Amino acid sequence: MGEKILVTRSSLPPLEEYVDEIRDIWYTHWLTNMGVKHKTFERMLKEYMHVSDIELLVNGHMALEMTLQAMHLKGEVITTPFTFASTTHAIVRNGLEPVFCDIDPDDYTIDDTKIESLITDRTCAIMPVHVYGHVCHVEAIENIAQKHGLKVIYDAAHTFGETYKGRSVADYGDASCLSFHATKVFNSIEGGAVCYHDTKLGEAIYNLKNFGIQGPESVESVGANAKMNEFAAAMGICNLRHVDKEIAKRKMIFELYKERLGGLKGLKLSPCQKDVVNNYAYFPVVFEEKEFGAARKEVFEELEKGNILARKYFYPLTNTFECFEGKYNADETPVAKHIAERVLTLPLYAELKISDAEKICDIIRKCYKG
Ligand SMILES: *Cc1c(COP(=O)(O)O)cnc(C)c1O
Repeated sequence: MGEKILVTRSSLPPLEEYVDEIRDIWYTHWLTNMGVKHKTFERMLKEYMHVSDIELLVNGHMALEMTLQAMHLKGEVITTPFTFASTTHAIVRNGLEPVFCDIDPDDYTIDDTKIESLITDRTCAIMPVHVYGHVCHVEAIENIAQKHGLKVIYDAAHTFGETYKGRSVADYGDASCLSFHATKVFNSIEGGAVCYHDTKLGEAIYNLKNFGIQGPESVESVGANAKMNEFAAAMGICNLRHVDKEIAKRKMIFELYKERLGGLKGLKLSPCQKDVVNNYAYFPVVFEEKEFGAARKEVFEELEKGNILARKYFYPLTNTFECFEGKYNADETPVAKHIAERVLTLPLYAELKISDAEKICDIIRKCYKG
């Protein structure tokens, strides 16, 4: 038995590079609270992503939570259930009510044609997700938001480094929240950021991430502790130097999957989105049993026998979680339900061996009876 192939493997810089980067921390003894590494990382990211402004946080989830809190929102937030727990939880933990909109059957992002029918006089914001790095229909969403006076906060955890029509995807909306978790395309061990335009919003988030402390004798808001520490920032600085190479390697695997799995009846691959520069974060495949001749379960198990752990990502839908029992109805988001029951994300990371990717394709093709 060889080693298990997981769906992702965290990127690390050469050890010596990281040791060099953290060496000065031993001279300054400045471990956290917006030190030199934090400032450097923030500046580097702002340049790399071409965004107007950015605030670093301890993780992507707190980026979402603090942004919603900083906007002083009340009422309902339109979002999708086809996402990681974090998106929905950030809404609920702010005392807001998620209202679930269905997803687009082709790219799995929020179906903009269904947003307006969900707007009530209690709606305050839209929180769409650039799921798998597929870019939401940002123009349509912006039009709706403007027409109804709603805030738009993107969950951009999957879109690090992507552009749409030449503009950074993280620059869209009132705010875009990124995650630098170890499993993402780009990591700072744990980490997150909010990209924004309104300086006041940035200041509010800056204060909230440090307990709402404004000065030594002044606490202006009920914040939390959501600061990024210096060691995480140092990891981010190192990984950022290598991320373009990592994305290029991911692209090779992505193209191989596309070539070997394309054209199989009943097997739906990610769409090729016009005007989007991709980061190759994920490779979701959707199995339509009737045409493909095998259900997701069967393919999942065959891969498992080959020591390959694909993931049912995103399954279950967030509107079916036990913690929300009796509150929402997944039948109201039938497309999301359909996709969640049939999707697998295949292993995809920079160091994935070509031979392993080929083996994965062979196993999937063997299941095909179309
Ligand atoms: C990873 C992720 C988050 C949360 O990010 P963390 O850094 O793990 O807190 C939020 N939304 C989505 C869609 C994610 O994939």
